[in-house]
Amino acid sequence: MPSKVLDRFLRYVKIHTTSQEDVDEIPSTKRQFDLANLLVKELKELGLTDAIVDEHCYVIATLNSNLSQELTDKIPVLCFLAHMDTSPEEPGENVKPQIVKNYQGGDIALPGNPDLVISPSETPSLKKFIGSDIVTSDGTTLLGGDDKAGVAVVMTVVAALVADPTIKHSTIKIVFTPDEEVGHGVDALDVESLGADIGYTLDGDELGVLESETFNAAGGTLTITGFNFHPGYAKDKMVNAIRIMAEIITRFPKDQAPETTEKMEGYYHVYEAKGSVNEAKMRFILRDFDLNELDEKIQNLEDIVNQIQKQYPKAQIVLDLKKQYKNMKYQLDKVPHVVEYAEEAIKRANIELIRKPVRGGTDGARLSYMGLPTPNIFAGSINFHSKKEFVPVIALEKSVETVLNLIQIYLEKSNL
Ligand SMILES: [Zn+2]
Repeated sequence: MPSKVLDRFLRYVKIHTTSQEDVDEIPSTKRQFDLANLLVKELKELGLTDAIVDEHCYVIATLNSNLSQELTDKIPVLCFLAHMDTSPEEPGENVKPQIVKNYQGGDIALPGNPDLVISPSETPSLKKFIGSDIVTSDGTTLLGGDDKAGVAVVMTVVAALVADPTIKHSTIKIVFTPDEEVGHGVDALDVESLGADIGYTLDGDELGVLESETFNAAGGTLTITGFNFHPGYAKDKMVNAIRIMAEIITRFPKDQAPETTEKMEGYYHVYEAKGSVNEAKMRFILRDFDLNELDEKIQNLEDIVNQIQKQYPKAQIVLDLKKQYKNMKYQLDKVPHVVEYAEEAIKRANIELIRKPVRGGTDGARLSYMGLPTPNIFAGSINFHSKKEFVPVIALEKSVETVLNLIQIYLEKSNL
């Protein structure tokens, strides 16, 4: 079994599935169907006869329970999800994976790009994988372990369960999604008709990681309307929207910015600003793991805007702010066993459990608010969205083992 997950992984990364920003359709790129169609074919060959890919490129299939109906009814329907697209931030076509056998420490050279090395000084977790085989790209593209590692893990789990009928399991749903990297991974997914009770994404991240927290998020635009005059004759007449915007931005706390925060710290972030004397506009986001603290950030921003408005009564300042997504923790706390069983599954695979918050949003977070509680389990990719991405083979194998453990834990806990 172990080598099979690697075989699948190497096969899937060679299929170009880069998604694209700012496309109104799902999938954002038709090429994602190339992998979707292959996965449907492979799922059908494994006996999952209902496997389909729909018009939005969602692959959905059912692995039927091999228990009695009575037992099946007692066990939650688990759904395992992974995304098929890769990040548009780096090239994803013509991926040429290299396997570094029995890594012995030190830098890993990338054969297609002499300027790049994967170095333990830059990526300390590389040191954990001395003695393991490591997969990289040739340095001209990303590898695509985010999230073809997850796809390969889920497919290998299905193959393992099909191959060995003595492994008992209840009904399991398989979902492969498009467009996760451009933020639309679950937009067109009909969660209700999926018929699953609990979800787990297998997405990125290094060996042992379990993620059940995301940011709470708000964001929006601030538009300032000023008034232009010939600058030589503008005294007491000109209202400079650019200057007003600059004053607002300097009031954003410098110690609460993306570049000055980590771990559990939240931030204010202006990511686009443009303007003229007549009109200036900026786009910003606010992030915090604690919902009350996010609300405080929102209040603080409104206070800043009110104060500046008083200083410049002739300007018009319009704040348009929306809440974007919520920390999935609030949903997962209602069903604590969903995370506890995953912790247990990782421990049973004899690996160190690493709990860490996601400093962003995830498809799992959105699914958790669509009625499917969905934490994330590691699939093994490190340095994702980079030409220095790599996947230790042991991480792929342990991810498969973790999912198989998890399926068994649900059986045990259902008092069978
Ligand atoms: Zn991902």
